[in-house]
Amino acid sequence: MVNLRSAREIAAMRRAGLAVWGAHQTASSVVRPGVTTAEIDQAVEAFFVSQRAVPLFKGVPGKVPFPAACCISVNDEVVHGIPGPRVLLAGDVVSVDTGCSVNGWCGDSAVTYPVGDIAPDVQKLLDCTSGVLAMAIQLMASKSRWSDVATEMAKYVRDYGFSVVENFVGHGIGRNMHEEPQVPNFCTPAFRRNHDFELKPGLVIAVEPMVNMGTKKVRGMPDHWTQTTVDGRPSAHFEHTVAITENGPIVLTSAPLAEELSAVAV
Ligand code: MG
Ligand code: MG
Repeated sequence: MVNLRSAREIAAMRRAGLAVWGAHQTASSVVRPGVTTAEIDQAVEAFFVSQRAVPLFKGVPGKVPFPAACCISVNDEVVHGIPGPRVLLAGDVVSVDTGCSVNGWCGDSAVTYPVGDIAPDVQKLLDCTSGVLAMAIQLMASKSRWSDVATEMAKYVRDYGFSVVENFVGHGIGRNMHEEPQVPNFCTPAFRRNHDFELKPGLVIAVEPMVNMGTKKVRGMPDHWTQTTVDGRPSAHFEHTVAITENGPIVLTSAPLAEELSAVAV
């Protein structure tokens, strides 16, 4: 069942979204050659604590509970990387995915950051992945079903010559980080037939394309969490929490508007 949220509930979710946006401001200020992924995670967790926001990723169940406030995935790591002693080098790309709850409402967002100067083809991968997310959000204003958005997303990525990861998808979000529906970044006949959903006011979803430079295939690492590309080529991940309102889609994890600035202290 897909939960539809009232305007008041969406406003409450914006508080969580602003905290997640602030966490990314913190992360981006820490990312540089020589820093460890654990240092990024610690800065984000400290930020959440300062905002009285509850980190959502810590303790997510798995073979081992997820141990950190962020998933941090470097280069060929697609998603779900565990922060640790790995030192970032110039030319790396680092995906930081994090979420929190504020007053029981959740927000979730991911950004892939360049570390120092990166190769032009890797920059193109980042541009494609952030671009396909922006396009999807825009299409949510005019399309009536998710399958139509997902079809366009897959085409956008294909036109770049890259591949959409199919093993992981976006999700509904609200009181819990992961709710119905599943939100794929590609469309299959089975999805259109059995799992498609309407884009209507009150829908709140986390849209999160993962794009690989080479094959779409991924595999899990022995740490039970990290997913990497099977060909070792880089991957990128961008995510926003998006609500559909009577006035169209709004991004809940975006930068504060002028009138919201008093609500955030970065
Ligand atoms: Mg996320
Ligand atoms: Mg998510």
